[in-house]
Amino acid sequence: MNLNVLVLPGDGIGTEVTREAVRVLRRVAEKFHHQLSIAEGLLGGVAIHKTGQPLPDETARLALEADATLMGAVGLPEFDNWPPEKRPEKGLLAIRKLLGVYANLRPVRAYRALLDSSPLKNELVEGADLIIVRELTGGLYYGTPRGIEGQGADERGFNTMVYTRPEIERIARMAFTLARGRRRRVTSVDKSNVLEVSQLWRRVVSEVAAEFPDVTLDHLLVDNCAMQLILNPRRFDVVVMENMFGDILSDEASVLAGSIGMLPSASLGDKRPSGAWTGLYEPVHGSAPDIAGQDRANPLAAIGSVAAMLEYSFGLAEEAAAVNRAIETVLNSGHVTADLRPAGKPATTTEVGKAVCEAI
Ligand code: NAD
Repeated sequence: MNLNVLVLPGDGIGTEVTREAVRVLRRVAEKFHHQLSIAEGLLGGVAIHKTGQPLPDETARLALEADATLMGAVGLPEFDNWPPEKRPEKGLLAIRKLLGVYANLRPVRAYRALLDSSPLKNELVEGADLIIVRELTGGLYYGTPRGIEGQGADERGFNTMVYTRPEIERIARMAFTLARGRRRRVTSVDKSNVLEVSQLWRRVVSEVAAEFPDVTLDHLLVDNCAMQLILNPRRFDVVVMENMFGDILSDEASVLAGSIGMLPSASLGDKRPSGAWTGLYEPVHGSAPDIAGQDRANPLAAIGSVAAMLEYSFGLAEEAAAVNRAIETVLNSGHVTADLRPAGKPATTTEVGKAVCEAI
């Protein structure tokens, strides 16, 4: 297969972790006999320095040409006081919009070697393996009318949580399709006891479920879901929800894995004629200026993002599984970066990347 990938290292540790992710991608291509063509582009603070824009036109062109895009992280302290429109993070929002990615997937796995890093008791978290599917382009964060109006005691602020039937149908279909490749269970999260938009959400998700009779569906209220994620995370497989609920619950779920340096993410858009999803892959963490340039960052979230890319954009499940197994092997070896609190001397970013390649 020809894997046509754009890499956007971005700022800070973004450059270090994507370097290792690319090393792993090359190893997979070599081992499984795929053709790999990698382009590299500018995004974020580095792009502002070189071109004046957080998402330069050239990067936008490359992203539209690529089959999949791997990002590092963006953000530099020197831009902290700049207006939101001009900051490196604007580049992220702009590229998501450009590619039309409407679903954010965050897989969360409790690796056995990291159970002690999780704030939950080992017996609660052991075996947890779930994906949060968050709707990314609608809901409360985009709905109109929105604003602040009036004066004094009459001043009021307002936002609108709105979803159309097609928006709910497409994210529900994605969740059910993902579940077919996993344990065939979807949990849909809403607040239908209070919100009309959630009543529509629940009805449409149930209708879509009829197209997937081999997948089990249950519904949970968002407040109960927040509780169940902590009480019984193993009960979840694919968990689908609107934008703001997903923003909050995906952060909650992420602590199960023990370190932010372990969390990959995928943002997916429509399916291409080949059957693969348009995808943007990135670690959940930021550019970590406090450890940038020191070869200390954990590259496993970026490497896990490569596994997600292989699975969703290229349909290469076996290759993705090989990467995930290699991550587990490296974790079990104990030769890991400082954030995972190894017993002896911590491994460097580069050493972990090389160890994953060897394990593949
Ligand atoms: P951060 O995720 O960069 O760092 C938070 C803490 O986690 C830091 O102590 C950092 O050292 C540690 N950490 C993060 N990733 C790690 C890794 N792979 N290995 C080991 N330790 C790791 O969040 P922050 O400090 O709030 O933000 C720093 C910059 O990153 C800001 O400019 C912010 O806007 C940006 N940011 C970007 C993204 C993105 O590109 N998607 C996401 C979040 C934050």
